Amino acid sequence: MERIAYMNQRDPGFSNMIVLQKEIVEHNTGRSFIVRQGEVFRVTGESTCDFVVFNLENLRERFDQARTKVDNGKIFLTKGDSLYSKYNNIMMTIIEDQFDGTHDLQKGMCSEKVYQDIFQKNFDNFNMSVLGVPAEKFPKHGCWENLSSALKSWGILPEDIPSPWNIFQHMKIDVITGKMEFTNKVPPPGTHVDLKAKMNCVAAVSACPWFGKGKALEISIYLP
Ligand SMILES: [Zn+2]
Repeated sequence: MERIAYMNQRDPGFSNMIVLQKEIVEHNTGRSFIVRQGEVFRVTGESTCDFVVFNLENLRERFDQARTKVDNGKIFLTKGDSLYSKYNNIMMTIIEDQFDGTHDLQKGMCSEKVYQDIFQKNFDNFNMSVLGVPAEKFPKHGCWENLSSALKSWGILPEDIPSPWNIFQHMKIDVITGKMEFTNKVPPPGTHVDLKAKMNCVAAVSACPWFGKGKALEISIYLP
């Protein structure tokens, strides 16, 4: 997709910023984007965005959940925190976070197999029943399939997609037992998170089907 820079005059969210790209990622689909060092990747949404990032110059270098937790010294990321690669390099830094919940940094991706397993075994370790979706209405595929197709043209295999940072996925965690509990807290319309690239990146998102309740995401790339 060719990127045409324009100064946005009408959208107050982007006043005086040079917008390079703006795309809608439809419900239960994925997309990949080039984000060059210094550019800002904005995710605007009302439900979970599974987010992964790779080094454009070496696609084997990718986001790492564990390094990110250790290097930030915590399990919830917000403004001022960074996403790290397995090589311990900063890939992106969060420069704005409008969500008043936490963004999950524990879980992997939903997938066809995960939905099948939940359906067949009635597995509900995370109390996903809070969403109130009957099992027979579960989606037929999930974020793993969406990210796999979004990253296929980069030669990235499904097995090599790291566990994501789950933007707008608020999860309750008991600090003593470590028990994780799913919640249905969602951001109000227009809520966004901004990530500034610290290296040339390939970023990919999945608009999580979220058991059939997920919505489309808006992705913007701009120069601050
Ligand atoms: Zn998902």
